[in-house]
Amino acid sequence: MIPIDTDQYVEGVRAGNRRLLSKTITLIESALDDHQGPAREVVSRLLPHSGRAVRLGITGVPGVGKSTFIESLGMFLIGRGHKVAVLAVDPSSTRSGGSIMADKTRMEQLAVQAGAYIRPSPSGGTLGGVARKTRETMIACEAAGFDVMIVETVGVGQSETTVASMVDFFLVLMLAGAGDELQGIKKGVLELADAIAITKADGDNIDKAQKARQSYEYALHLLAPASPNWQPPVLTCSAQAMEGIDRIWETVRQHRKALEASGELAANRRQQALAWLQDLVDGGLRERFLRHPEIRQHLPRYQREVVDGRTSPTAAAEALLFLLDNPKSL
Ligand code: GDP
Repeated sequence: MIPIDTDQYVEGVRAGNRRLLSKTITLIESALDDHQGPAREVVSRLLPHSGRAVRLGITGVPGVGKSTFIESLGMFLIGRGHKVAVLAVDPSSTRSGGSIMADKTRMEQLAVQAGAYIRPSPSGGTLGGVARKTRETMIACEAAGFDVMIVETVGVGQSETTVASMVDFFLVLMLAGAGDELQGIKKGVLELADAIAITKADGDNIDKAQKARQSYEYALHLLAPASPNWQPPVLTCSAQAMEGIDRIWETVRQHRKALEASGELAANRRQQALAWLQDLVDGGLRERFLRHPEIRQHLPRYQREVVDGRTSPTAAAEALLFLLDNPKSL
């Protein structure tokens, strides 16, 4: 195997070379043993050059208009001189074998812009694994000079919480429904929102969108705001008509100003660094567990026993963890 020239990766990314940025992300996403060390080294060396971007998380159910919205927002931002990278966290590709997000042609206009970089979700692995890779990819993109990071996720499972824990501003996109605005929406997602935007507020849908806006405003007022310095607003937009996109960006900027002034932005970033550390430790422990020779030998048997009801999950877990510390004990 040819040794990996980490200098070339670091310097290439720092110079804004897209090919080397892509190669670096491929290295970060690699599952090969030989790639883990160089990937860690490259990320560590890029880390001091990251952190200055606006990190924006976006979620919403399939069909809410995420791709269309991100394309419009991305074009708007590029028009204002920003460099925009779009990442995705989609662990559904692990579960169903097919990704909800990656199988359509998305953001065609944005994808060809020199100031934009779009990277699909890393596939395979747990949500934790996907998140780890996305965090590191964010570092690489920021070190390459992208100053707005958009991290997109579909509203499935825990992925919203995960993405909210790696961004500065979390935007929840919602469809205007017919009188049942709050149906099917997990309350937990509203609690994560720094703003809600009702999408597709155009044509016949404008009235419905306004009504939905009022309902969500009411719903948000019932929640205790997550930050003492910010009351999440509810906005409407049409990505197709390019309406309301500027207001949403203005909201992101206002939020940033308010949280910067109060020190909350820096505190959030510190908290996120700790959460990241914890994730890495959790992931590392899990990996070590699964690779351990005796665990590999005995895990299938314990799994069978648990399935058959012959051993309780508690007892099996205890026995396996005991094995980890006391190999050759069986
Ligand atoms: P995603 O699954 O959340 O990424 O949603 P898409 O961006 O693929 O949009 C789903 C559908 O909604 C597509 O048919 C879009 O053309 C349509 N759509 C997206 N944004 C708008 C909008 O602002 N107005 C209208 N009328 N339709 C939209």
